[in-house]
Amino acid sequence: MAIQKMKFGIIGYPVQHSLSPILHTTAFKALDLPHSYEGIEVHPTNLRTKFKNLLENGFSGFNVTIPHKQVIMRLLDERSPEATAIGAVNTVVVRDGATIGHNTDVAGILKSLLPLQDELVGKKVMVLGTGGAAHAVMYCLLKYIHPNLVRVASRTMGRAINFVSEFDKMKGNTVLFKQLSTKENMLRMVERCDLIINTTPVGMSPHLDQSPLGDAVRFRPDQIVMDLIYTPMETTLLRRAREDGARTINGLETLIHQAAEAFKLWTGLEMPVREVREALMRKLAGVQ
Ligand code: NAP
Repeated sequence: MAIQKMKFGIIGYPVQHSLSPILHTTAFKALDLPHSYEGIEVHPTNLRTKFKNLLENGFSGFNVTIPHKQVIMRLLDERSPEATAIGAVNTVVVRDGATIGHNTDVAGILKSLLPLQDELVGKKVMVLGTGGAAHAVMYCLLKYIHPNLVRVASRTMGRAINFVSEFDKMKGNTVLFKQLSTKENMLRMVERCDLIINTTPVGMSPHLDQSPLGDAVRFRPDQIVMDLIYTPMETTLLRRAREDGARTINGLETLIHQAAEAFKLWTGLEMPVREVREALMRKLAGVQ
């Protein structure tokens, strides 16, 4: 029996730089599925109307990106426990006319963090930024990794305070610190932490020479540095960490595995990760 074609897309503003269309169309093609996936640019003032139109047009699911991840929650019938805890949705499943919001960034981040689980128990982590990705990182750290301490750095102290208090109920035995991301604080924090995670967009293409920790930072070989940015695949932060002998993790595997989780929610199938990774590497090889 022929598989019925389904329509998917990513809602954002802007969306033209998103890798999700290439990622999901590669996966559909590799599995010989007739489904489509498109970038859908929706201005923030138009989200409610446009979302209703898309549902009436028979879409079966969406990814959601900046700036709609929080606001879209109010337009949905149901939300997963992860999406509720984090306060953001990046994937919508439409099933029997009902819309269900998920946060698959958690699964994507966990794919990079889980291999470190044993060595990070009782260790110290530094998280740079307090936005959507930082919420997903913090959720993973507190639910699955259980470090001894997490230091959260923001350029706005009020944001760091709110962020830490949002996770108060989840923190268990992990001590949470908030810190202003001044140059001096950051350099002191790096020295004291075992894992450093950048969730800010600082260093993302085209601002290749920028680093959220500045030029003076130094790492040790026993440290791990993770950057959620995937354009470029090696940011200035990761290059410095690699040159100092630290272990590095870029944002590509998180991107692939958050997509694999969304793909499974929509189709019930495993995403062909190898084909998708190859397509993304080809695309990203040209990104400076
Ligand atoms: P977001 O919600 O806008 O949060 C960005 C955070 O970075 C905020 O805390 C913001 O601080 C901080 N920030 C922004 N510019 C800064 C600067 N110049 N100096 C210091 N802090 C700064 O964005 P997001 O959704 O979390 O995404 C953040 C990054 O993660 C992006 O690069 C995105 O591509 C990446 N990401 C990657 C994946 C993946 O699959 N690999 C998944 C999600 C996100 P304020 O609150 O003070 O503005």
